[in-house]
Amino acid sequence: MNKPEIMTQTDIAGPAPRHQTTKVMVGNVAVGGGAPIVVQSMTNTDTADVESTVAQVAALARAGSEMVRITVDREEAAAAVPHIREQLDKRGITTPLIGDFHYIGHKLLTDYPACAEALAKYRINPGNVGFKDKRDTQFSTIIELANKYGKPVRIGANWGSLDQELLSKLMDENAASATPRDARAVTREAMVQSALLSAARAQELGMPKDRIILSAKVSAVQDLIAVYQDLAARSDYAIHLGLTEAGMGSKGIVASSAALGILLQQGIGDTIRISLTPEPGGDRTLEVQVAQELLQTMGFRTFVPLVAACPGCGRTTSTTFQELARSIQDFIREEMPAWKSKYPGVENLNVAVMGCIVNGPGESKHANIGISLPGTGEAPAAPVFVDGKKFRTLRGPTIAADFKALVIDYIDQRYGSGAKAPESVTAAE
Ligand code: SF4
Repeated sequence: MNKPEIMTQTDIAGPAPRHQTTKVMVGNVAVGGGAPIVVQSMTNTDTADVESTVAQVAALARAGSEMVRITVDREEAAAAVPHIREQLDKRGITTPLIGDFHYIGHKLLTDYPACAEALAKYRINPGNVGFKDKRDTQFSTIIELANKYGKPVRIGANWGSLDQELLSKLMDENAASATPRDARAVTREAMVQSALLSAARAQELGMPKDRIILSAKVSAVQDLIAVYQDLAARSDYAIHLGLTEAGMGSKGIVASSAALGILLQQGIGDTIRISLTPEPGGDRTLEVQVAQELLQTMGFRTFVPLVAACPGCGRTTSTTFQELARSIQDFIREEMPAWKSKYPGVENLNVAVMGCIVNGPGESKHANIGISLPGTGEAPAAPVFVDGKKFRTLRGPTIAADFKALVIDYIDQRYGSGAKAPESVTAAE
């Protein structure tokens, strides 16, 4: 009997080739068809409140959200949409706005043509588009309006609002089958069919494939992976990935990263949204940061310089190390929007902030610029490494400020308009 083959870490060469999908243009942003995986987010302001919504879209865009979805839930919201677009344009923010419609989307898009025009994409939930005989008319109306305005749609099935008629039909068929599957598997099939049947109907109504994006969001990680694998295997529509109702804090981040990480590794997903529940008073832009970090740490895209920091342990006695790592990370995120144009390529920078000499010098040498702070019992000196070579040793109470200044100098010299070769940035102590 042959021994089973065991895959080792070194056999895993990287992500699978991207699943081939049809490219869809959402405003000026390409989704699918091999385009870079797009980061998107959603506001939680009342869309009728133009000022707050503009401020939040601007904050999300500044954080790196390449498309922003806003809910269009009632007439006041639909009336506000063109004003939101206008104010964003005045501020030079071109980020496409996506309208999220449930139940009365057909009516709002009909009655508010300026809203229909201002949005770059309409999101339709096939489970919430109307019921029984009204469903088809209301769905058709939205598709016809999207065709009229030349807008793409996302057909987004959701576990929490799944098309009940379709689910009942599949459950009945399953019950009558000689080999019935468990109810969860049938619900997953209903999710996939809901998205695919709606997409086929949209195409029958004249919508081209290059204006259709599909999603099928579930809140349980294993179900989500299974549903999206199926969706990808059965179609080549552009795919929006997201774990719905991911939750708060670390739970939401871990669950989303686990689910999306596996799918992305399998080549599935053209745009992602991390649906985090913000802490009370928390920052909505965290979902953008998590999405970017997920794509960057997996090697799909680069957005901001990465700061490597050791976890700290009993060898670090002061908080200097944590404070410096935090301060450098925050500084980079804040400056990044301006740096993007001033320092092309700066997103590839790696910075290391380490707590002692055990791994500090080694890790710092692997970074573009790194510092190894003194641990317990070590001399109060912090060697700085630039491009793998010892550059300088910092001492005294201004170590943090001095290191930050060196990072800025490095960025300016390496990525500024008069950039020098990396070798010339370094100078022996
Ligand atoms: S580098 Fe030093 S301080 Fe940091 S975790 Fe390792 S031993 Fe601890």
